[in-house]
Amino acid sequence: MIPYGRHKVDERDIDFVVKALKSDWLSTGPLVENFENEIEKVSGAPAVSVTSGTAALHCAYAAIELNPGDEIITPPITFIATQATAALFGAKIVFADVFKDTANIDPKSVKDAISSKTKAIVAVDYAGHPADMKELREIADKYKVFLIEDASHSFGSIYRGKKVGTLADITTFSFYPTKNITTGEGGAVCSLNLDLLDKARKFSRQGLIRDPDKFKIRNEGPWHQEVHNFGLNYRLPDILCALGISQINKLNEFKLGRQKIFDFYSSQLSDLSWLKCPVRRDYVEPFWHLYPVRVRSDLRERFTTFLKGAGIGVQVNYLPVYSHPVFSDMKIDKRLFPNSESFYSSEVSLPLHNNLTQEQLDFVVAKVKDFERVII
Ligand SMILES: *Cc1c(COP(=O)(O)O)cnc(C)c1O
Repeated sequence: MIPYGRHKVDERDIDFVVKALKSDWLSTGPLVENFENEIEKVSGAPAVSVTSGTAALHCAYAAIELNPGDEIITPPITFIATQATAALFGAKIVFADVFKDTANIDPKSVKDAISSKTKAIVAVDYAGHPADMKELREIADKYKVFLIEDASHSFGSIYRGKKVGTLADITTFSFYPTKNITTGEGGAVCSLNLDLLDKARKFSRQGLIRDPDKFKIRNEGPWHQEVHNFGLNYRLPDILCALGISQINKLNEFKLGRQKIFDFYSSQLSDLSWLKCPVRRDYVEPFWHLYPVRVRSDLRERFTTFLKGAGIGVQVNYLPVYSHPVFSDMKIDKRLFPNSESFYSSEVSLPLHNNLTQEQLDFVVAKVKDFERVII
C-alpha cells in the first residue's frame, strides 16, 4: 500500500535523537530552546514548542483569554481540533463558508458572521496554501478582534513574500508524522506579539511564574514560583525537540520534494475532464501538505475504492466540522455553506510525501487515468 502521507526519518534524525537520549536531559533541556529558535527562523516569529498542534491551538485560545460566550469564526473544512480547543473554553463556534477552489475561509463570509461577541477570526491554511490573510487582517482590525492562523498544514509556506507565522496575531503549527516536518507528536505557537506569546507559554507550562519581578508573593525564598492563571503541561521533551531540529535541517529539501510531486501530478492530471487539480494563487508559495483533487460527487466513493483497491492510500480532507455529531444541537443549516458541502463531497487527497518514488508516482497517475475507463 502506498500511504497518502508519511514521515521521512533518516539516520541523521536517529543519531540526533540517540544523542539526546544519552544527554542529561530527557524533558526540558537545551534542545527545547534550540528547536524554538529553529522554528523562529522558518516562521519569522518567536515560538513556543508544545506537544501537538491541538495543544498549540489550546494555548492560542488561552492567550487571547477566550471566555464562555465569546464567538470565534472558523472554516468548516479543517480538522476539528481548530474548533474543539475553543469549545472547551465555552466559546461559541461560528462557521463561515470557504472558497470553492482553495477551501480556505472566504473573507466575505467572515464579514457576514461578525457580531459584537466575536473574539477571533480563525483561518486554516488548507493543504499548505495560506488563507487570504490580507483581507482577513483588514476585517480583524476593523472589528478589533484577534486573527489566529491554524497553520498545521503550512509550516514553511510564504504569503505575499511573508513567512507564515508573521501574518496573524497567533499562528499554530503541528508536527504530526504526516505534516511538513515531524517530531512524532508536537506543535508550536508563534507570535510577534510577545505578550500573547508569553501567555501561551505560561498556559503550556502549568501557569508557573518564575520571574521575581512578576511575583505577587514577596520574599518567599529562592525556591519560590507561583501561579496566577491555571495552565496545563504541554512541554515538548528534549528527545522530540532533537528530532525537530534535525527535521528542520531538511526543510528546503522537503519543500522542494513536495513541490516536485505537486507539479508532476498537475502536469499529468490537469487535462482530465472529470477531475480538477488543486489551484495556487499567484501570491503564495505553499509548502504543500496535501494534493487535493476534486471529482464529480457521484464518482467520489467509487474513485477512492478503486484507488485503494490498487494499493493507493487516499484520504478525504475533511468532513465539514459542523457535521460531526458533537455539533448536532447547533442545528446547522448546511445550505448556508454550499462551497464547504460541494468541496467535501468531491475531494480526494492523493499520496503526497517525500518517500514517494517516481515509479510510485507514475503508478498513481496511471491508476487515476485508468479510472476513466471505469466510468465511461
Ligand atoms: C493536524 C491538524 C491539527 C492538529 O494537530 P495535531 O498535532 O494532530 O494535534 C489541527 N488542525 C489542522 C488543520 C490539522 O491538520
